[in-house]
Amino acid sequence: MSLVTTRAVVLQTYRYSETSKILRLMTWELGPCSTLARGALRPRSRFGGLLEPFVEGEATFYMKEGRDLHTLSNFELVRDRRGLDQSIELFTIASVLCELVMRLAPEHRDATLYQTLTRGLDGLHGLGGRAAEGPVTGGLEYVWGVVDALGFRPELERCVVCRRRVGKERVRFDFPAGGLRCASCGAGGPRLDAAEIDALRALVSGVPAAAPGPYGNQGRWLAEFIRYHLAEGAKLNSLPFLSRLT
Ligand SMILES: [Zn+2]
Repeated sequence: MSLVTTRAVVLQTYRYSETSKILRLMTWELGPCSTLARGALRPRSRFGGLLEPFVEGEATFYMKEGRDLHTLSNFELVRDRRGLDQSIELFTIASVLCELVMRLAPEHRDATLYQTLTRGLDGLHGLGGRAAEGPVTGGLEYVWGVVDALGFRPELERCVVCRRRVGKERVRFDFPAGGLRCASCGAGGPRLDAAEIDALRALVSGVPAAAPGPYGNQGRWLAEFIRYHLAEGAKLNSLPFLSRLT
């Protein structure tokens, strides 16, 4: 048994008993890890109610070789991102980020994925801070960032069938083929107009983009792409909510 201290983001929590919680963490040092936080649900727990999704801290746990569940001994707060649940849109997007990482992160250190996750959660938290100024939109670029960091970037410049450069006329998003399909290559997926193509390209390259309407079809298309390429066979609970962003 060894004692490990590492920066970690809480991805999800489950009640384990009357007083304890299981945490799914994305750690800087080891990739995804599960830990048991004994007593975390007691009113005067030393974890002080901090162990909630999206929160980041320095986690210390006892690691048992060959075991999947380690025992958390300490959690020092680094970034408190609680409050994202004030916006259903931002909460949905943050949940997709965490669920993608939880299900698909490699079982070892992945600095790019860790940084992409935390940049996304920080960005969403920043958008949440502006909620008082009007309806919150945006944040899909952070999910595309995590999709990219996991190794799945859609092809948006050349047709996925004939490899010719695609224009903006009668272009379709062919989800199974993984990108845009030109007019000559026939039907397959929803048709995008020029503004939607521009918005999609912006989001995939990490730039916030306003589609027609706050989210337009972009949430649905992102969910479809994830379903075909990342979550085949795996049910991501947050994905239907992403499809319904408007
Ligand atoms: Zn083509």
